[in-house]
Amino acid sequence: MTENNTKDQQHQQSDNNNDDNTSNQIIYQIDAHCHIHDTMLSDNSKTPSINNIPLQIQVKTSQLCEMGTTYYDWPTVSALHSHHPTRFIPAFGIHPWFVQRVPGLPENTQDPISTAEGLDIPDTWESELEAYLQKHPNAIVGEIGLDKKAVKGTTKLRFPFTSQIHLFNKQLDIATKFNRPVSIHCVKCQGSLLDILRNTPPSCLPPKIMLHSYSGSIESLKDFLSIPGGVGRDRIYVSFSKLVNGRNTEKFAEIIRAIPDNRVLIESDVDSMDDVDECMAFSENLVAVSKEWSIDECRKKVYENSCRFFGILDGGNEE
Ligand SMILES: [Zn+2]
Repeated sequence: MTENNTKDQQHQQSDNNNDDNTSNQIIYQIDAHCHIHDTMLSDNSKTPSINNIPLQIQVKTSQLCEMGTTYYDWPTVSALHSHHPTRFIPAFGIHPWFVQRVPGLPENTQDPISTAEGLDIPDTWESELEAYLQKHPNAIVGEIGLDKKAVKGTTKLRFPFTSQIHLFNKQLDIATKFNRPVSIHCVKCQGSLLDILRNTPPSCLPPKIMLHSYSGSIESLKDFLSIPGGVGRDRIYVSFSKLVNGRNTEKFAEIIRAIPDNRVLIESDVDSMDDVDECMAFSENLVAVSKEWSIDECRKKVYENSCRFFGILDGGNEE
């Protein structure tokens, strides 16, 4: 028996123990967007290390949607879900901060710094993304998006927007082809995102679209919710985190009030398991206060919204 096999058995055992013995501690709430696998990557960040995957997922939040952000972290997200299938919903995508050198685009539109780091996206990335979606039938596509504000490290250089748009559109197409929801990062690009979503036929858009840690204005929000063809009315979900939305609770309370009750989600967006529950409690409270719901009412409604968004049947555990 190999060390990995032993580890696999321990993982299975611990999941069973978790379900059997600690379920009274689980709070039925879904973290719609987090990155806790970031702390489990091996040193070169290109391969997962099974030894870094914890035996127990010690958070009270019942399920976590784990966002891949680079081509190189997809194996870790996949391994984490395989070891803890009841606790994670995997998401595979390329974040706009990791567009690197993009196959199929002219050299003069590429990011020279990313290229120098040797973290190019290989030509096979689309078929590999599709393979991960096939392997994980409950996976969504994320974290994908557009960002005109962030800069690369200390360079003050923004991430090349042509590459961002190119990769974003390709990933929207793959999500649509596999009928999977998407989780979208959008910073200072609400106009560009609206243009894409408005100008794409609804049949060529994913079934559900999460605007994660929504940071735009209330006017842009209303524009998203009124995208024609039923897209705004039926497919847009809006998610809130402590990290982004906790910076201006007054502004975001007004925005939360403007969102239909059945379209609000909450998330931690953190990369450490230790922070998940506290950040989820903050978001839950922000939504409850904004909507004038009790915490219990908020938990029930947001959990139902999450189950609908992620396609989890009958509002309960997927298994
Ligand atoms: Zn994120």
